[in-house]
Amino acid sequence: MKVLVINCGSSSIKFQLLEMENEMLLAKGQVERIGMDGSLLKFLGKHEYVIEIKRTIPDHKTGIQLILESIVQENYGVIASLEEIECIGHRVVHGGERFKESVVINDEVLKTISSCITIAPLHNPVNLEGIKICQDLFPGVMQVAVFDTAFHQTIPETAYLYGLPYELYIKYGIRRYGFHGISHQYVADTLAQKIGRALKKMKIITCHLGNGASVAAVKDGRSIDTSMGFTPLEGLIMGTRSGEIDPAIIPFIMEQEDMTGKQVYRYLNNKSGILGLSGLSSDFRDLESAAKIGDQRAQMAIDVFAYQVRKYIGSYVVAMGGLDAIVFTAGLGENSPYMRAKICSGLEVVGAHLDLKKNEVRGADADLSKSDSDVAIWTILTNEELMIARETKKLFAVKQ
Ligand code: ADP
Repeated sequence: MKVLVINCGSSSIKFQLLEMENEMLLAKGQVERIGMDGSLLKFLGKHEYVIEIKRTIPDHKTGIQLILESIVQENYGVIASLEEIECIGHRVVHGGERFKESVVINDEVLKTISSCITIAPLHNPVNLEGIKICQDLFPGVMQVAVFDTAFHQTIPETAYLYGLPYELYIKYGIRRYGFHGISHQYVADTLAQKIGRALKKMKIITCHLGNGASVAAVKDGRSIDTSMGFTPLEGLIMGTRSGEIDPAIIPFIMEQEDMTGKQVYRYLNNKSGILGLSGLSSDFRDLESAAKIGDQRAQMAIDVFAYQVRKYIGSYVVAMGGLDAIVFTAGLGENSPYMRAKICSGLEVVGAHLDLKKNEVRGADADLSKSDSDVAIWTILTNEELMIARETKKLFAVKQ
């Protein structure tokens, strides 16, 4: 069966088309710069190289239509007719407390995703738009929602409650939700398969380190804690996001810098993190290059990031009562031996010994630990789209 996976962001749409009998990737790509100058689709289909289709793409509907047109295009397309697509899986960022797993989309599901807009104003509207466009373009085709928050719904109350008046939780749902759940679940699953152990009997710390970054404690296959919170702003310092700060800093900045609450929120989301600390870039590649030639602030930003990840790992060892494995994933986790080594330096105390030679790998699944390390250390390439396609296939099979 062929499954189309759609992942709508505010100005981008990622997609994959998969043949799920053998989990074969047929096509993948990304629409970029929606509503801006220079909008385009990067498409990897029949040919081995990426084709760039430059078009005016004013909105998400035009973007999805361009993807569909390309999938069936004569020269580089991969299927003869869109009717071959049996099911569509959508990434939805926020499922609140209502969605503990993936669901087949119906009117009630759409309403509930809408009701989560208050707590995910940046993400859920555009996810909903993607679903509605696909419903229009594929009437009668089953559509599935796979949530970024669902995997973390097993986090216990002790870990998800904030020290705020309880009424705020009841009234507005203010609590830790956690994000990147699809990725944390995928890499934990894959790791267990790779080392031939039962996920249900393992204590794993998964580190999703990309532009957005989060760490999760996965005990017996279930997330029991994670660093992101009510929104993806909490936790680790990230590319442009501050991560956790003393909340008293917010009214302080508002007063001193004459900013509104909204302005501070944007400041914490877009101007902070390693970009703000280094004054240079939100991209770790730039920081690593600059640090190598002696840029002190770039080095400091790298060191702050590595320290924070290490601190989370330490606390999750205690939260889980032990540790079997650490997994590094996403752009930085998959590609930076330097950052992995920095994070792991000092983790010998919890029995995690990185093999510096094995750690030299980039962009591949690999065991990075010394042969006598108590804790396995791995890098695993995340594949959120494959995880969404698997969930979609599972629900499709139940419906038949
Ligand atoms: P997103 O969260 O946007 O999906 P990715 O998972 O693609 O991000 O990660 C992108 C980030 O990964 C980049 O901003 C960069 O900081 C980091 N990164 C990617 N490749 C490398 C590399 N070779 N060395 C260091 N950092 C890298």
